[in-house]
Amino acid sequence: MSEIAADLVLDAALMRRWMARLTRTIEAGCDELTRLDAAIGDADHGINMLRGMRAVMAGLDGDGHEDSPAAVLGLAGARLITVVGGAAGPIYGTAFRAMSEVLERQPLGIDGVAEMANAGLAAIQRLGAAEPGDKTIVDAWLPAVEALRSTVGSVPLSTLEKAEQAARRGMLDTIPLRARKGRASYLGWRSEGHQDPGATSTHMVFASLAAAADTTTD
Ligand code: ADP
Ligand code: MG
Repeated sequence: MSEIAADLVLDAALMRRWMARLTRTIEAGCDELTRLDAAIGDADHGINMLRGMRAVMAGLDGDGHEDSPAAVLGLAGARLITVVGGAAGPIYGTAFRAMSEVLERQPLGIDGVAEMANAGLAAIQRLGAAEPGDKTIVDAWLPAVEALRSTVGSVPLSTLEKAEQAARRGMLDTIPLRARKGRASYLGWRSEGHQDPGATSTHMVFASLAAAADTTTD
């Protein structure tokens, strides 16, 4: 059964656990992301994300100064932008930086997760101009934000688990969609019937946050 500290705050330790968990999840899911991107892209999403997260972890391990939650996410964003080629690196990097800026303004409790995630979404849409239904990262990220908003005030872990479940639904809902942004859009109708790789890695982002906040797992 999952459990969470009642006084969970979005502190540096949680952000570090989130990044570490996301790295492990991407390692485990790298082949799946590659397979999905092979179907409607160029088969590099898994390796892009893996390279990016390994660079994030190297940055966090090598520098003791990331002692604020904003600094941890700021480093992650900067590394993803610099290290990852392709569409997803700058998109995720910009999102993490935008979330870092929210954390900089004030120490946030669990109720602030919605604001943080929404800042990430806004940055993704500013950069990539994708709308819901375009078969992108937005299709998993947006439902997660909506779930976080609608569950503010409830038990923290169930809040994060609902976000993970919403992201999963959004990810699965990309299957029938026709891609209108990114490389997959070149395929037109042939992109239909395939799960979007970026929506899949976004599900991993929210699954990793829920797992990182769960004190019964490591
Ligand atoms: P590339 O397409 O350059 O090879 P990746 O394979 O790493 O980059 O990432 C592909 C994913 O990026 C897609 O599955 C899609 O979810 C996401 N993506 C592409 N363009 C956009 C966009 N404009 N907004 C949001 N997500 C996007
Ligand atoms: Mg690709």
